[in-house]
Order: sequence, then structure tokens, then C-alpha cells
Amino acid sequence: MRLPRFDYLGPDTLDAALELLATHKEEAKILAGGTDLVVRMKKGLLKPKVLISLKALNELSYIKEDGKEIKIGARTPLADIIASDLIQTQANALAQACEKVGAITLQHYRGTIGGNILQDNRCFHYNQSSFHRSGRQPCHKDGGKICYARDEADRCNSTCQSDGATALMALGAKLTLASKGSARTVNLEDFYTSDGIMPFAMESHELLKEITIPLTGAKSAYHRLAYRSAIDYPVVCAGVLLKPSDTKKEEIDDVRIVVGAMSRSPLFLAQASSSLKGKKLSDIDAFKTAADTAMNSASAFAVHNVGATLAYRCEMVAQMVFRALKEAAQAADR
Ligand SMILES: Cc1cc2nc3c(=O)[nH]c(=O)nc-3n(C[C@H](O)[C@H](O)[C@H](O)COP(=O)(O)OP(=O)(O)OC[C@H]3O[C@@H](n4cnc5c(N)ncnc54)[C@H](O)[C@@H]3O)c2cc1C
Ligand code: SF4
Repeated sequence: MRLPRFDYLGPDTLDAALELLATHKEEAKILAGGTDLVVRMKKGLLKPKVLISLKALNELSYIKEDGKEIKIGARTPLADIIASDLIQTQANALAQACEKVGAITLQHYRGTIGGNILQDNRCFHYNQSSFHRSGRQPCHKDGGKICYARDEADRCNSTCQSDGATALMALGAKLTLASKGSARTVNLEDFYTSDGIMPFAMESHELLKEITIPLTGAKSAYHRLAYRSAIDYPVVCAGVLLKPSDTKKEEIDDVRIVVGAMSRSPLFLAQASSSLKGKKLSDIDAFKTAADTAMNSASAFAVHNVGATLAYRCEMVAQMVFRALKEAAQAADR
């Protein structure tokens, strides 16, 4: 599999990168670590004319505490996040999620958190070589009118398998998107479209600059299921944020349950989350009920397109949510 031809541009400041994006717009793609982008290009799924590399932009690589927030530059390597004391103590679900991504080589030498959030949605009918795909009619994502994953589907249901995005949504993260002369901030929850072809509500001239995580004193945990512990994407995953009450320490004040690898975006499950408000940190039965509610809610979205059977993935939602809840509650009780 060969890379198609492209022009490589290596700006050395953020402003220069934004200028280039404003000029080339949809003809350009941002190159961070390249571990998602280059694979897609090799498979002929994408043929950008221009790659704008973030390699020289050290100004986008940082993790810092700023008042009641953690700020992470979009080009920060996954390895820095895994090793960060601040992330481990205040946003542990993210450290746990990044630790699960791909393999150690990918986390240390290439993969960035921005690229992790913005990696394309996946589907086993689509993420194949050009040769494999050439033997049959194209699906929606390949420019056709059918979907192999769901009969009669009028749109693409490819799945977001980002570990980082699932953990970050549980943590209530926001994204700062920069473009030439301006910037805007969006809640991660509001950043997704409902179409797997263009999963992100982002313009072609915008660049992900920063990720912000609020510091609330809550504890978090992340669990995932994959065929192998390395190299494989999650077939289901769950991130949980659990905040104990300020006045009654053993009582739960707020919970966010997010399930990933089940839909076009990570799913914040409001009903399962709110069912735990006011419950005790030690209330295992309430955790089991919330996990079952999460399973029922998430199952409505999933299609059979990421490897394991749909029935198995749905059942495993409850397991992943339950484990994450138990772990976050134990951390909050210390
Ligand atoms: C074998 C293998 C296993 C993997 N396993 C996992 C896994 O288990 N879990 C998981 O979550 N991922 C997995 N990945 C996907 C990917 O490697 C990681 O998500 C990685 O963090 C992507 O980061 P990157 O910097 O390499 O992204 P890139 O490939 O550089 O970029 C990915 C996408 O984001 C865009 N982009 C990147 N940064 C920006 C920015 N700042 N602004 C605007 N657009 C941007 C790029 O244009 C591209 O479209 C795997 C990949 C491989 C090859
Ligand atoms: S979900 Fe359907 S349209 Fe989307 S990539 Fe898979 S087969 Fe194609």
C-alpha cells in the first residue's frame, strides 16, 4: 500500500499553520502523529493534496493547571498524559484511557491527544484496502448509497473508537478550536454530528488547539474491552466521573457515565448518570442498576461494525460501566 502524492508543509508557529489552513481549507489535512491519518491515506480512504504538519509546534504541547482547570495542548503526546501526576490525580480516567491506546510505541513516539480525539470513525466494512473495497458496491462513506452495517440506513453509522474522547467526555472536557484571527470553545458533547462520514462539527479551516478539563474534586475511572491488550481498538469502553457530596462525604453528588465504541460519538448517558445522585458511595446495587440502564440506553445506538457481535458488545457495556463506577467510588472514598 503506497501513500498518494501530497505536498508537505511544516509551519513553525501556530499562526503560520492557521494561515496555511485558511489558504488550503478542505484540500489540506493536519498531520499530528500520523498514526490514524497515514494509515487511512495508505488504504486509499483519503487523498489530501496538502499535509500541514504540527511537528514543529511545541507551543501546542503542554499539560498545565490553570485556576480550576487543566489545560492540555492538542499536540501533547499520549505518553506525556500517561506520565503526568496532575492527570493521574485529577483526571485519572484520561491517563487510563491513553494507556490503553494502541501500543506503547504508538503512545510514546507518535500518537497525540488531538489526533486521538479527531481520528476518523471506523467500520470493518470500510477500513479495508482499496483492493478489498473495489470488489463490491461503495457504501455511503465511500461515496455510494448503501450501508453494509445497517440495512436501509440513510447515513453512515461508523463508530467512534477513540479511548481519549470517551474519557474526556466523562470528565466534562471542552475543546478550543482556532482559525485565522479567531477561536471558539465547545463542549466535547456538542462537538459531534450525527453522520459517521463527517463525525465532527468542525470547519476545514479550524484546528484543535487545546483541551480543557474542569477541576471539581471528582474522581474518575475508565475501563475498556478489546480483543487484545495491545494494538486493538476498543469494542466497548466506559468512562465515569463521580463527585462525592461536599457535606456528606459518603454520598454521591454528581455522576457522568459515558460509553464509547458503541455509536458515531461517545454517548453521555443522562438517565443512568442521574440515577446515582444521592446514593451512597458503597451502594453496589445502585451501581448495578445504573450499569444496566446504561446498557439499555447505549444498545439503541449500536450497529454491528467493529468486530465483536452486537449482542456481546451490548452486554459488555454493563460490565465496563459497573467496573468504572466501582473504581471511581473506591477512589472517592479514600
Ligand atoms: C495499530 C493501531 C492501533 C490503534 N489503537 C487505538 C486504540 O486502541 N484506541 C484509540 O483511541 N486509537 C487507536 N489508534 C488510532 C491512533 O493511533 C490514535 O488515536 C492516536 O492518538 C492518533 O493520534 P495522531 O497524533 O497520530 O493522529 P493523526 O493521525 O496525526 O491525526 C488523526 C486525525 O486528526 C486530525 N488532527 C490531528 N490533530 C489535529 C489538530 N490539532 N487539529 C485538527 N485536526 C487534527 C488529522 O488531520 C487526522 O484526520 C490506533 C492506531 C493504530 C495504527
Ligand atoms: S456504517 Fe455503513 S456507510 Fe458507514 S462505513 Fe460502515 S458500511 Fe459504510
